[in-house]
Amino acid sequence: SSLIDPRYIRDRIRTVPDWPQSGVQFRDITPLLQDPKTFRVLVDCFVHRYMDHDIDVVAGVDARGFILGAVIAYELNRGFVPVRKKGKLPFDTVAEEYELEYGSATVELHADAVKPGDRVLLIDDLVATGGTMIAAARLIQRLGAVVSEAAAIVDLPELGGSTLVREQGIPLFTLCHFA
Ligand code: AMP
Repeated sequence: SSLIDPRYIRDRIRTVPDWPQSGVQFRDITPLLQDPKTFRVLVDCFVHRYMDHDIDVVAGVDARGFILGAVIAYELNRGFVPVRKKGKLPFDTVAEEYELEYGSATVELHADAVKPGDRVLLIDDLVATGGTMIAAARLIQRLGAVVSEAAAIVDLPELGGSTLVREQGIPLFTLCHFA
């Protein structure tokens, strides 16, 4: 249920092979942000979808989710809260650790970023294994709020993350995918 052809978005994402490590096809969204017309189309896709949703606050995931999430929040006339990598938030936080292919990562959220019962729109640029989105959703849920929907520009369905996110009961919307 997107306003535009997914190909419009997909064709403007740059694929960088073997970055940041061998075997990874990095899907670089910076060309979408750099061009004023595509940046507007991109943001409008999300704003159009969520303007009729019951959302109290927008949460964006460090770092590309900040760019998108902040603009969407502004357009929806809602506040923005950052889900950050470990050690960046100065006040009381909740933290979730999750497994990566090698090692682990931790995301944090200020304890007062969302209130019990808040309906939260969660934004990142891309869903790969789903670990980041699920950890971010858990932070929101641990504070008693509800993830109204998780949204990203790109899904990499072969990595299984989007299925895992949905299996957690979190609705997920993406604009395009790479097989
Ligand atoms: P994951 O937790 O595995 O779903 O990974 C999602 C996070 O890692 C997002 O914040 C993405 O920005 C980043 N990421 C993972 N894989 C890629 C990729 N192939 N291209 C671009 N970003 C990626």
